[in-house]
Amino acid sequence: MDALFDAALDEPAFSNSDEGLGWTEANCSTCVHDRPARTGDGLGGCPLILVSLMGRRPVEWLDGPRDERGRYSMAGQYLCVEYRHEDDGPTDPRPVPDPPGQLELFPRGPYEGVRMWLRPNPALFSAVSR
Ligand code: SF4
Repeated sequence: MDALFDAALDEPAFSNSDEGLGWTEANCSTCVHDRPARTGDGLGGCPLILVSLMGRRPVEWLDGPRDERGRYSMAGQYLCVEYRHEDDGPTDPRPVPDPPGQLELFPRGPYEGVRMWLRPNPALFSAVSR
C-alpha cells in the first residue's frame, strides 16, 4: 500500500465526487480486485481506490480516450492497467510457457510487463464527442 501511495501522482484523481463515483461504478464494480469490498470485506478492497481517496492519482490509471477538445466520459476518464473482470477466470499469473526445445538464455520474469486486459464493453469508454 505504501509503495502504491508513494508511486502515485501528487494530484487528485477526480475533480469531484460525481466523477469519482462515476468512474469507479463503471470500472471497479466488475473488477476482481475490488470484489472483497463488494462482498462485505471493506478492508480487502482495491488499494488503488484507497490511494485515490487519499488525494493522489495512482500511476496505474492512464488517461482514457479524449475527443478533439480534450473532453472525456466519466466512465472512460482513466484506463486502469490492473483492471480485470471478475469473471475472467483464475487470478494467478500464467506466464507464457517457453517454446518446446528452446533454451532460456535469460530469466523472462523481469522483462514481462504489465498486461492490460480487454474491457467487457469497450463502447462504454469511447471519448465524449456529442
Ligand atoms: S484494479 Fe483498477 S479497476 Fe480494478 S478495482 Fe482497482 S482501481 Fe478499480
